[in-house]
Amino acid sequence: MKKIRGIFIKNEREIEAMRKANRYVSLILDSLAKVVEPGIPSIELEEHAQSMCREFDVKPAFQGYQGFPYAICCSINDEVVHGFPSERIINAGDIVSIDMGVIYDGFYGDSARTFAAGQISEEAERLIKITRESLYKGIEQARPGNNLFDISSAIEEYATAEGMGVVKRFVGHGIGRALHEKPEVPNFKVPGGTGVPLMSGMVLAIEPMLTLGSAEVNILDDDWTAVTADGSLAAHWEHTVAITSDGPQILSLS
Ligand code: MG
Ligand code: MG
Repeated sequence: MKKIRGIFIKNEREIEAMRKANRYVSLILDSLAKVVEPGIPSIELEEHAQSMCREFDVKPAFQGYQGFPYAICCSINDEVVHGFPSERIINAGDIVSIDMGVIYDGFYGDSARTFAAGQISEEAERLIKITRESLYKGIEQARPGNNLFDISSAIEEYATAEGMGVVKRFVGHGIGRALHEKPEVPNFKVPGGTGVPLMSGMVLAIEPMLTLGSAEVNILDDDWTAVTADGSLAAHWEHTVAITSDGPQILSLS
């Protein structure tokens, strides 16, 4: 793999391998979408993801990563990211963010979606919609000729115009043979710079985290779970995206 400014540039074969890794993630998320429902403990989502990893013969990417204990991050309501699946029962009206990663053929896949459990409030529905749309606004900018912070600005401008809080504590990232590669991909404009020029062969995990209230987060005593400081709802959408001469290609699709 070539490296420019510390950023790995993937060739077509490598992007193809990453497409496979990310497709597995997407298939697992598709399946989890059907499992999320009121009345089940969130650990059932973990068990389902683990069993699909065994079936696909892929390795869960997060389990053991810096000590994270599970295959999925399961973050409910005011939990933003990095929540633990547990015996906690999912209630009707909850929103459930699931972040999933796998390793296949030495490459990482990484994607996240927020799901509704039963009937949710209109504002929760809107939060999920705007978060997903802000991700796509960012993805549109992931093309050669643009700079990294074009992605960041597009996400922030859209989310802010819709009245959402944009979490700054966590950012997206390059991805490839490691889960987190350079560059960091902020969901907000960084003052005084444009970010690196985007080039064909870069692969980025773009992942806006939005809230209905404050964008400040606290970390719980488990040292992982990030919650909104004001208790407001949070949503998280993420795709792994390859930058190509034809524009952005989302790899984390089924
Ligand atoms: Mg992720
Ligand atoms: Mg990620």
